[in-house]
Amino acid sequence: MAYKPEKIINLCLAHMSEANLEQKYIKEAFDTNWVVPLGPNVNAFEADLENFVNSGNLNKKVVALSAGTAAIHLALIACGIKPGDEVCVQSFTFCASSHPITYVGATPVFIDSEKDSWNMDPELLEKAIIDRHEKTGNYPKAIIPVALYGMPYNIGRIMQIADKYGIPVIEDAAEGFGSRWKGQVLGTFGRYGILSFNGNKMITTSGGGAMICNDADSKNNIMWYATQARDAYPYYQHTTIGYNYRMSNICAGIGRGQMTVANDHIAHHQRVQSLYRELLKDVGGVTLHEAPSADYDSNFWLCTITLDPKLRIKGQENAYKEVVKSAVGGAASVIHMVDSPTTDCQPNENVEALRIFMLERMVEARPLWKPMHKQPVYANAPAYINGVSEALFKVGVCLPAGPCVRDEAVRYIVDCIKEAIVS
Ligand SMILES: *Cc1c(COP(=O)(O)O)cnc(C)c1O
Repeated sequence: MAYKPEKIINLCLAHMSEANLEQKYIKEAFDTNWVVPLGPNVNAFEADLENFVNSGNLNKKVVALSAGTAAIHLALIACGIKPGDEVCVQSFTFCASSHPITYVGATPVFIDSEKDSWNMDPELLEKAIIDRHEKTGNYPKAIIPVALYGMPYNIGRIMQIADKYGIPVIEDAAEGFGSRWKGQVLGTFGRYGILSFNGNKMITTSGGGAMICNDADSKNNIMWYATQARDAYPYYQHTTIGYNYRMSNICAGIGRGQMTVANDHIAHHQRVQSLYRELLKDVGGVTLHEAPSADYDSNFWLCTITLDPKLRIKGQENAYKEVVKSAVGGAASVIHMVDSPTTDCQPNENVEALRIFMLERMVEARPLWKPMHKQPVYANAPAYINGVSEALFKVGVCLPAGPCVRDEAVRYIVDCIKEAIVS
């Protein structure tokens, strides 16, 4: 094995443009004294994003915000979600899809996934809508599908159901930047679309997000909420609660630079997926997650595999013997210490053993996101479940796919997986 990583191969980490345009735009912000949460970079970044998401005769508007989580929060507010309301959200997701529902005092109703796309099951969604109406007398007030790992959700069916019951759709395309459903960019189908530019997403602004809106009026409304909801007086006058969620002009400078490489990044992730496809095709017990059909054009933000429960991985007998001491993947973040290394819903031992085996070889591999309906914090939330997401959580692994993962790294990663398997 000739290739050896010098540092850990992360799932996906920020990668700046070759020409360092990010620094040029940041410098401009300093030179012109626009070091504030608005300004020329913010406007230009929004124009770049509008250009990117619009195709054909679409004319969507984009607002740059401080985070994807903030964007979901504001989308719920703009949809008029109130305390006591219910919102249908994909259970198989990162917590930022559902937490903002609780910020507005509403209740998430978790919807399980379809087997093929891993995303919101439309049939289960409709069942939930009908059942919530029977049980509470009200229909859910919004629907949030999620492009998990970049894979599109079946937005054709979801929009049909949403329109049938008159429920707005908020697309969580935080992981699906540039993914397409039947050729149209995700985030442009529903009433609002959410993007994230956190450090590990398809493109980054260090931290940031955006909201795709239907027209200039709804863009204005979101910008108003994002800048403390001020009334038109010479002094601060407020009739509504607002938020400080606008993107900074410095972060937007990074975003402008990143937009020059956005398509390259997406092509890179798709190429990594095709390399995994080629290299893993003869590895028994390991299945690469693929798009169900050509309608689902994924950006493959992360490449994911599932392990046959019967596959034996070296060190598997020692999995879960010790509590984890740092955030998964060694990321710099704060986690609460726990007493027990296990929970009542966790990945199979071969999955945990593979994670440890890979980490020892400088490769970050992560379990799939634990479904929200299995999270203790959501124990009391209604959930419409078919078993798909829980079953996937037990067998799935995320593999590195970011812009720093070159071809030789993909080969190295697959060689490590083969080495980990007990033959
Ligand atoms: C990252 C992410 C978000 C939130 O984005 P931030 O910019 O980190 O706040 C929302 N939903 C999903 C599915 C995500 O992966």
